[in-house]
Amino acid sequence: MICFSDNTIQSIFCCCCCCSLQKRQMKTQISLSRDEEVSEEYSPRARQWFCELQSKKKSNRGHIQPSKRKPLPPLPPSVVVEEKIKVKALYDFAPREPCNLALKRAEEYLIVEKYNPHWWKARDHLGNEGLIPSNYVTENKLTNLEIYEWYHRNITRNQAECLLRQESKEGAFIVRDSRHLGSYTISVFIKARSTEEATIKHYQIKKNESGQWYVAEKHFFPSIPELIWYHQHNAAGLMTRLRHPVGFMGNCLPATAGFSYEKWEIDPSELTFAKEIGSGQFGVVHLGQWRTHIQVAIKAISEGSMSEEDFIDEAKVMTKLSHSRLVQLYGVCIQRKPLYIVTEYMENGCLLDYLRERKGKLKKEMLLSMCQDVCEGMEYLERSCFIHRDLAARNCLVSSTSIVKISDFGMTRYVLDDEYISSSGAKFPVKWSPPEVFHFNKFSSKSDVWSFGVLMWEIFTEGKMPFENKSNSQVVEAISKGFRLYHPRLAPMSIYKIMYSCWHEKPKGRPTFAELLQVLTEIAETW
Ligand code: ADP
Repeated sequence: MICFSDNTIQSIFCCCCCCSLQKRQMKTQISLSRDEEVSEEYSPRARQWFCELQSKKKSNRGHIQPSKRKPLPPLPPSVVVEEKIKVKALYDFAPREPCNLALKRAEEYLIVEKYNPHWWKARDHLGNEGLIPSNYVTENKLTNLEIYEWYHRNITRNQAECLLRQESKEGAFIVRDSRHLGSYTISVFIKARSTEEATIKHYQIKKNESGQWYVAEKHFFPSIPELIWYHQHNAAGLMTRLRHPVGFMGNCLPATAGFSYEKWEIDPSELTFAKEIGSGQFGVVHLGQWRTHIQVAIKAISEGSMSEEDFIDEAKVMTKLSHSRLVQLYGVCIQRKPLYIVTEYMENGCLLDYLRERKGKLKKEMLLSMCQDVCEGMEYLERSCFIHRDLAARNCLVSSTSIVKISDFGMTRYVLDDEYISSSGAKFPVKWSPPEVFHFNKFSSKSDVWSFGVLMWEIFTEGKMPFENKSNSQVVEAISKGFRLYHPRLAPMSIYKIMYSCWHEKPKGRPTFAELLQVLTEIAETW
């Protein structure tokens, strides 16, 4: 249920040279209900199959030691798929455990059982069965767009443009999801003409009253694949026909929720260390490999910096948070000290450094795309009822394809340093915190929304420090009096309005991430 309200808010805008009092009329929407978690019925059959495999694994691979600290958690129930679903592999998957089944891209498999949302039992055409990561397959039916090479579900307008410019071929195209606007868009590369530079056209796919899809008037189709097929052969109103479908960005495989089913504990002997890549609150971070073929980041936790027992309990849950805009937690090594936290490796490092190093070089479309990436990941955390508590550019990382992902979610709960935990401590992120956090330590998805506004500000100032010349106590005083961060030069008014809406003094007055995502997508489509 969505509630709409109109508020008038008095605020003082602070910019480098002047302070001005402004009244603003804000329309806010408050979501009163959450998406209900889908509850599924499970059967014991999967447990039996898995236990058999586990015992086979133990006898085959004596070197894998079960944890000495605690017995393995009980196996969760799984869903028996009554009507077998046919899926198509989107990527190759090499088995990591005896219980896994290999996947070959574009081949068909049957889903026999859903162990949890991330790991399913599949059968190949030879009758072999095993567990596969669910994000490596998609339902194989002609109406499912994901089976087509040209379809990209999770890509911003700016990312689509970068991909097509890399290809640089007349008629190179993709179809992308404008899910939050309830439609689809064809993005197509048009080569330079004698008088015009190369350009990318975005055509929205629309639906008429009788449910037929069209791009150009007069050409209607019952499905999107049929529409695309037609325009692959006829320009019919487009600037060029759709000549070259462009597939996935790079060849990188998506991260899986843990290395395998229920595998949150990692054997340290399976890790190799390549080089040091950074250090932070908890210790030094290394680039390394798991079983010599999966690149990972390994954080070695310094003695006394973390409440380790509590974190280990939570890590089992956190490995199951899996989204393309979150840095995946693969698992932890708990057999000996130091404790290692193993995550997805992000080639372009920390977002704050990335912004500062590229000052003046990033176009505003790219900056907006970064905000969309973070907002997507945060919308997933909001839906999963998981609070980040320390969202900031320093806690986001950038992939090799310049996608921004959220890192360190929920981790402040395990910090042992008082200077970081107490809101009066020198390391407490006051400049990213709303009043209910710095006064009462009251965290919520809405306090994350406030931080997201500050993160947008960091992005559009190319990595400036918020409230640069103010101490933490001065910031508390300023915010309480109604001061807000100034309008960054690179941010159009529409963008500043969004960050400003995140800084409503009352949590209820701030938008949800789902609402923010919709507004950001709308802006991206009109630039
Ligand atoms: P902490 O949580 O201990 O404060 P951080 O997560 O901030 O540590 O990591 C410190 C630095 O290490 C980051 O700023 C970044 O440069 C690097 N780093 C951390 N995790 C990764 C990763 N997954 N991929 C690439 N670099 C990383």
